[in-house]
Amino acid sequence: MAIRHSEDVIETPVLIVGGGPVGLALALELGWRGIACTLVERTDGQIAMPKMNVVNVRTMEFCRRWGIAETVRQCPFPDDYPMDVAFVTRVTGHELGRVERPARRFQKPLAASPMNMQVCPQFWFDPILLERARSYPHMRLLHRHRFESFESSSDGVVAKVTDLESGKLLMIHARHMAGCDGASSRIRESLGIGLIGSEALSRSIHMFFRTPDLLGRLGARPTNFYLFFDREGFWGSLRVMDPVNGLWRLMIDDLPVGVDSQHVDFDDVLYRALGQKVEVEWLSFSLWTRRGVIADRYGIDPVYLVGDAVHQVSPTGGLGMNTGIADAVDLGWKLAAVHEGWGGPRLLASYSTERQPSGARIVNMTTEFFEGTTGVKGDFAQIDAETPEGESLRASIGRQLSEVTAREFRTLGLQLGYWYEDSPICVADGTPPPPNDPHEYHASARPGSRAPHVKLSDGSSIMDRFGPGFTLLCLSPVVPDTGPMARAAAARKLPLDIVKLANDEMRAEVLRIYERNFVLVRPDGHVAWRADELPSDPLVVIDRVRGA
Ligand SMILES: Cc1cc2nc3c(=O)[nH]c(=O)nc-3n(C[C@H](O)[C@H](O)[C@H](O)COP(=O)(O)OP(=O)(O)OC[C@H]3O[C@@H](n4cnc5c(N)ncnc54)[C@H](O)[C@@H]3O)c2cc1C
Repeated sequence: MAIRHSEDVIETPVLIVGGGPVGLALALELGWRGIACTLVERTDGQIAMPKMNVVNVRTMEFCRRWGIAETVRQCPFPDDYPMDVAFVTRVTGHELGRVERPARRFQKPLAASPMNMQVCPQFWFDPILLERARSYPHMRLLHRHRFESFESSSDGVVAKVTDLESGKLLMIHARHMAGCDGASSRIRESLGIGLIGSEALSRSIHMFFRTPDLLGRLGARPTNFYLFFDREGFWGSLRVMDPVNGLWRLMIDDLPVGVDSQHVDFDDVLYRALGQKVEVEWLSFSLWTRRGVIADRYGIDPVYLVGDAVHQVSPTGGLGMNTGIADAVDLGWKLAAVHEGWGGPRLLASYSTERQPSGARIVNMTTEFFEGTTGVKGDFAQIDAETPEGESLRASIGRQLSEVTAREFRTLGLQLGYWYEDSPICVADGTPPPPNDPHEYHASARPGSRAPHVKLSDGSSIMDRFGPGFTLLCLSPVVPDTGPMARAAAARKLPLDIVKLANDEMRAEVLRIYERNFVLVRPDGHVAWRADELPSDPLVVIDRVRGA
């Protein structure tokens, strides 16, 4: 359906409210699938205070499919800058421990994915998403437009939006609306959906500054992220955002209630972090509350909530935006299926059933990571003592940090090892779930899991064979008759690619990991069904996986 636009009425299949990274990712997923939509964002899209900087492995897999992975990889963050995390009393003080993480150039390819984690701070990442979304002619991106309110019925949504340049009120009619409007989501509030969990793990302030060659001037080795422990225990962190242009983000982690930005002397805080006086240019700051909260449902048809609107997690682990982008991909293909006419009436309801438990797992783990750091024990009053006792205290704190805090930098199990247990649109095969391990990824093609990566004989990934619709992977040595399955899919207009690996020398390896001769992979790259024989009644499987 095309977008119609008269002076103050817009008709659009999907309205996306919020152009943060998650709203942009949803626009991109829909744009890539050929679905017209309109996005409204109240700001002009400039990032004054960057939050995220880690694009995780799963998001990079989505970027690969959207055709922007190379652009993200080539962002201006120098590829020879080490990603080390150091636990220190101050930058020029004692080092308690260090997690050595190689510069991007030296990252080893992962066995679990064709992609690797990337550092690409929000002031580079969001514009990459925006530019690609903008490249779709069926996409309308309205910045400086503020969503005000909506009314919904079974036919769709009518939203009121103010054009902040002209002051004019627009009415936007959409069949579906996605609330990607962040932590204080007005749409979530209007739906009466509450959040449960820890409302205030800590109060924080971010201070963003510029200064050239900070570590060089302090005689410190290149480090990506410092965590500070002094006489008061853990109190804050410092992260390089752009080493070339000397952009850094300093953070106090435990701002007492009642203390506001005007009570904070930024230069004093910087001195506490560095141990030396350094002139910097303060650029911006932001006060925020660290939470570990989640909604119990992700929307009420025809309105769906995505990203921070439904889960707010401690940034420990760099998983907030990445989880929101995985939400966007799950919702995106389901919206596309419904708008293309092959998605069944139960398909969109499965978005919440699948994504909410994954979000809850991330909330729990990231809260645990944060509590690990704040729970480190020791007589901090002695942390600077130049005595054998002081030295052994620092060693003890360092050991605890390596065991506890270092865990948040090893999260492949969370990034890739999530699965949709009890999904109404996957066909369970009775096998037990893989271990619930946040750190290590245990490859599994059990229905509901992300279909694992396997490198094929031509060097490509099996994931590159998955089409935008469903893909039936045939791994048996004998090429089967897939006609009945193809006809069942065609009868329901469900897009199905059939991939036969009979002649690929890596077929046996794929079969070893996928464990069954036939595997049906969904449009989002998760396994919907698998078996050693093709189904005797393929329509039953096809109807199940399309939410009929
Ligand atoms: C210090 C810090 C570091 C972080 N690091 C990482 C990291 O490395 N990796 C990671 O994955 N996550 C990280 N996160 C979390 C990440 O920043 C958030 O999860 C992510 O920004 C959520 O994206 P979103 O699009 O859902 O919400 P937001 O980024 O909050 O975007 C919501 C958008 O909606 C717009 N909006 C709101 N109301 C309206 C309205 N009425 N009308 C129009 N527009 C509206 C807002 O202007 C905003 O642009 C970090 C967070 C913090 C605080």
